[in-house]
Amino acid sequence: ASGYSLLRDPHHNKGLAFSEKERDAHYLRGLLPPTIVSHELQVKKMMHNIRQYQLPLQKYMAMMDLQEMNERLFYKLLMDNVEELLPVVYTPTVGEACQKYGSIFRRPQGLYISLKEKGRIREVLKNWPERNIQVIVVTDGERILGLGDLGCQGMGIPVGKLSLYTALGGVRPSACLPVTIDVGTNNEKLLNDEFYIGLRQRRATGQEYAELLHEFMCAVKQNYGERVLIQFEDFANHNAFDLLAKYGTTHLVFNDDIQGTASVVLAGLIAAQKLVGASLADHRYLFLGAGEAGTGIAELIALEISKQTNVPLDLARQNIWLVDSKGLIVSSRKETLQHFKKPWAHEHKPLQNLVDAVKAIRPTVLIGTSGVGRTFTKEVVETMASLNEKPIILALSNPTSQSECTAQEAYRWSEGRAIFASGSPFSPVEYEGKVFVPGQANNAYIFPGFGLGLIMSGAIHVHDAMLLAASEALAAQVTQENFDKGLIYPPFSNIRKISANIAASVAVKAYELGLATRLPQPVDLVKFAESCMYSPAYRNYR
Ligand code: NAP
Ligand code: MN
Repeated sequence: ASGYSLLRDPHHNKGLAFSEKERDAHYLRGLLPPTIVSHELQVKKMMHNIRQYQLPLQKYMAMMDLQEMNERLFYKLLMDNVEELLPVVYTPTVGEACQKYGSIFRRPQGLYISLKEKGRIREVLKNWPERNIQVIVVTDGERILGLGDLGCQGMGIPVGKLSLYTALGGVRPSACLPVTIDVGTNNEKLLNDEFYIGLRQRRATGQEYAELLHEFMCAVKQNYGERVLIQFEDFANHNAFDLLAKYGTTHLVFNDDIQGTASVVLAGLIAAQKLVGASLADHRYLFLGAGEAGTGIAELIALEISKQTNVPLDLARQNIWLVDSKGLIVSSRKETLQHFKKPWAHEHKPLQNLVDAVKAIRPTVLIGTSGVGRTFTKEVVETMASLNEKPIILALSNPTSQSECTAQEAYRWSEGRAIFASGSPFSPVEYEGKVFVPGQANNAYIFPGFGLGLIMSGAIHVHDAMLLAASEALAAQVTQENFDKGLIYPPFSNIRKISANIAASVAVKAYELGLATRLPQPVDLVKFAESCMYSPAYRNYR
């Protein structure tokens, strides 16, 4: 290959880091200025450039350009500056990027499968340049973060998630495949937007939808084998639960909005017990929002309580209450509830709003998963603070604009007593001379390590026990120093080590449950996980 095309191949390009010998051997003479720089200096220069941009979206675009230009530099940059760049390539900025995807779009990333490709999905998969795929993140764009239906422009999500699979979990970039399934959109604004990139029709539903998804699921398994991990991402809940149930026994599937969220939140709650001096079974939980995130978290909490205390699952569920758009979920509503809400319909008189529910249920833990911002009002937080010495308040809705309250509000309205974490990041807050560092209950703590654990053990199915193992592994990574700052999650700067530990715990479960196919079982699974992880260091081309 010519030097000119080498410089344009993101998988191999090193830019000014090509050595003299490489420049000679690969016809690069004259195509680069004479200076030779180190990988480290390239990172320093890129960070300098990125920090010049005022707008997060400009930073996002600079990162995407870099990914298209020099993959190893992109990943080294992301790994070396994870706390600063996570909010750029992921929530909240990725949300804005999806909203404007049509106009910021340069080179397409990922694979688009629309209704036009029906009957030909295997052919379409063959157009992707890589054969050896280990993880697919797929969306149909119907519920992007808390932003709603963004149709085909949801592609930003699988692309962003997979870059975290590599940067945080060490899965090789070439083994990652982002997919957007386009069945149309019900977003009128997009349908009328001349720059919209997707199918200009309303969403296909019912059989037409199910058939396209089924063809996709079969094609993927035929092409990549039974051990390819398929992560469902940002599907609307009426499809998400069904897809997970339908393919849970035939494919290696994982829904990050239901299961990943549950695992990361459970980890935070397990860790928080050190700060409140209690156990999970001692709490009363109230959720605002009873969709994928809310019911997913609720169920995993109940499973963990049942495991810790040996009480039946149904009994463990009794201390967990949820509020949806119609008010508290109670038994008199049972007939009309969607199936995933039914286990939470306990005996109580109907209550319409959150404040009344907080007063009646008297929760010790309040969790926001409704996608609606500003719903943890002053009255709600003050009531939590009057009921509890250390109220646990998690405002999980993303992006930042949808957060149930800000970190500042949570600390101020609780007089600095709240144990607070949020889905999108907030800066540290000063309240009466003390600095509070809000934790981020971010799925990025779990799914990269979780996925690595599945891949490295050759797991063929996901099991709830693996999710519990991942939560416990993450909670165990919170240090006394973190607790002293009020944190219930460890800092992201250690994420590779954290991911290796999560991967090892997940793999242990896979072997225990007989779901692992990579035999014999490696002796030291943490070491094995680390040895599997992708490194962005440049290779020498001779
Ligand atoms: P979802 O399945 O659509 O569920 C949303 C739930 O909120 C539904 O139960 C809905 O009620 C309820 N709701 C909507 N408006 C409400 C209102 N005004 N008052 C009370 N309840 C209301 O969505 P999801 O997948 O669970 O995601 C919800 C949010 O969580 C999103 O913003 C997402 O970004 C965020 N999230 C965060 C994390 C994280 O931080 N780690 C992870 C996953 C998701 P009905 O059922 O009555 O319609
Ligand atoms: Mn999601």
